[in-house]
Amino acid sequence: MKAICWNGKEDVRVEKVADPKILNDNDAILKVTLTAICGSDLHLYDGMIPTMEAGDILGHEFMGEVVETGSKVKKLSEGDRVVVPFTIACGNCFFCKEKLWSLCDNSNPNAWLAEEVYGYSGSALFGYSHMYGGFAGGQAQYVRVPFADVGPIKVDSGLRDDQVLFLSDVFPTGYQAAENCNIKEGDTVAVWGCGPVGQFAVRSAFLLGAARVIAIDRVPERMKLAQAAGADIVDYTDVDNDIIETLKQMTAGRGPDSCIDAVGMESHGATFPARLDAVKQKMMLATDRPNVLRQAIQVCRKGGTLSIPGVYGGMLDKIPFGAAFGKGLNFKMGQTHMMNYLQPLLDRIEDGQIDPSVIISHRVSIDKGPEMYKTFRDKQDHCTKVVLDPWN
Ligand code: NAD
Ligand code: ZN
Repeated sequence: MKAICWNGKEDVRVEKVADPKILNDNDAILKVTLTAICGSDLHLYDGMIPTMEAGDILGHEFMGEVVETGSKVKKLSEGDRVVVPFTIACGNCFFCKEKLWSLCDNSNPNAWLAEEVYGYSGSALFGYSHMYGGFAGGQAQYVRVPFADVGPIKVDSGLRDDQVLFLSDVFPTGYQAAENCNIKEGDTVAVWGCGPVGQFAVRSAFLLGAARVIAIDRVPERMKLAQAAGADIVDYTDVDNDIIETLKQMTAGRGPDSCIDAVGMESHGATFPARLDAVKQKMMLATDRPNVLRQAIQVCRKGGTLSIPGVYGGMLDKIPFGAAFGKGLNFKMGQTHMMNYLQPLLDRIEDGQIDPSVIISHRVSIDKGPEMYKTFRDKQDHCTKVVLDPWN
């Protein structure tokens, strides 16, 4: 079959690889009908995530048709159309029972690698390094789905693939980010990053009752998309990167009630601390560029909430923890607990409350995947989200 394989920093290729096989009784094999490139894949593309190996199949946002099931799979059968969440969970451990699915204790066979860095391991992820399990991803014609009774959700309605595909990650991720803000009537929510995650955070904040959402980025087409969803937009380059003063002014001096960092470890910026982050990262003196996180901590109102869906990887430098403490901020973060959101968000799509396909700018064949990684990373060609057809 064809698959997009990682071969090193900025080197992904479409390769011919062996078809996946059932390895465990609870596996299913999917014929992938649609898949996407995620902002998280860009961290792999940029060589920011350790324990990738040449030949690893990428992709954690995918859907398709079940073509084979292991003997213990009860809920799925051949021919079912399913969307698969990017986190892999066993459904049985302490964490799954607590509905903290992305912290599953059983799905990562390489847990020891993560334990060395983080103390404990989160769940395994599709196509996201050996530290996260080494599972082949879904930017491919077929994929093996472990614990097939736990993750995938069947979609029987007439909705198109592109309307439900983002249930695999970015819609639930934006939604959880907004839910984590504990939004109350009249609240103002600031969202850094108008990429796919930011787009769904903006839309979800409104769905959850925010009176006002302020979306921050510098890429015009991305800001326009956020504006179309009702957000006030701020181009951080227009305000000379003085986003803190700007947000204070926009909120009568009090600061946003909650702040969502939908940017993560690869934030940009022209301020001195941001430039220093970039230099330190280049010299391998730092893992992350936490510019947005610092700004959000600084400007969030007293007693407010910081919700962090953006991915961070290592030891973060110069975090104003004193400010966070002094203002009594709440922090919520992490990989999305996907299985809590699949059905409720599918219901919202079926109900017409949201059409996730509006963020798609590029619909191309998997053969164009490698060039699309670059286009999406560099925000060229008005690229807001890429979906790939593995068969055409
Ligand atoms: P993306 O790269 O398409 O979007 C990031 C956006 O942030 C870009 O539009 C960029 O212009 C903007 N940006 C960069 N620096 C900024 C700054 N200083 N201020 C404001 N905006 C800035 O990525 P995405 O797909 O939207 O993902 C966003 C983040 O969410 C990534 O870190 C990704 O890994 C993470 N993510 C997390 C989860 C989870 O489960 N927590 C799931 C999916 C993605
Ligand atoms: Zn993703």
